[in-house]
Amino acid sequence: MHTEATVDAALDLATAGLHATEIGRSLGLPKSTVQYWCRGGRRRPRAPRVTQRCPRCDGEPLDRPEYAYLLGTYLGDGHITTPTPNSAVLAIYCSDDWPGISQEVEHAMRAVLPASRVARAERTGCHALRSHSKHWLCLFPQHGPGAKHTRSIVLEPWQRAITDERPGPLLRGLFHSDGCRSRNWTQRLTGKGLVRYEYPRCLFSNKSEEILAICEAALDRLDIARRRARGDMVSVARRAAVARLDELVGPKY
Ligand SMILES: [Zn+2]
Repeated sequence: MHTEATVDAALDLATAGLHATEIGRSLGLPKSTVQYWCRGGRRRPRAPRVTQRCPRCDGEPLDRPEYAYLLGTYLGDGHITTPTPNSAVLAIYCSDDWPGISQEVEHAMRAVLPASRVARAERTGCHALRSHSKHWLCLFPQHGPGAKHTRSIVLEPWQRAITDERPGPLLRGLFHSDGCRSRNWTQRLTGKGLVRYEYPRCLFSNKSEEILAICEAALDRLDIARRRARGDMVSVARRAAVARLDELVGPKY
């Protein structure tokens, strides 16, 4: 039994133009299996490739708010693989619990690279939205081997210009992927003794110090008070700050 990831990888290589023999060789699969998948044995066959024009290579206009949102989700739960030297697959992992967020991520992927198709690959409890284009490497040059917290994540000047201009969609993407809104409580000594207070707070967790700093810079740009709840967690807990963030992010849906 082959995993969905293997089927995805084989179909991605087929989309990139490789023959079944080459795909079988590179993934250690029988040619006949690859041919079966490509004929739609596991899913419908893909439509023919459409020429993609890239905002970075070809000067296509870039939808900046959608890009800022997608960058947030990429920094949170995104990953790029390169099945061949001349191709790339962007995958954004979405929880099955939040179908609205999944639709929003898919919309952003299509808005940023309109000729790209977006496929859904099921995993346990979540799914990956996958899009095949070498231009995802131009759009997310932070791609590299290993997990993001094990390598340097520095935005390029053109990306910083967008995140400075659109901190709201960036925060929406960051909190949609690695954020949560919960209730916290504290106790205060009053005339009636110790009184328990509950308050909402929003948390953003990430193992990469640089991604945490990108989140903090966007919050600062919008004057949203924040602090580090832990080394790997940014907390927004003041009433006015939570209200402002709620306007930008809102509940997961
Ligand atoms: Zn490009």
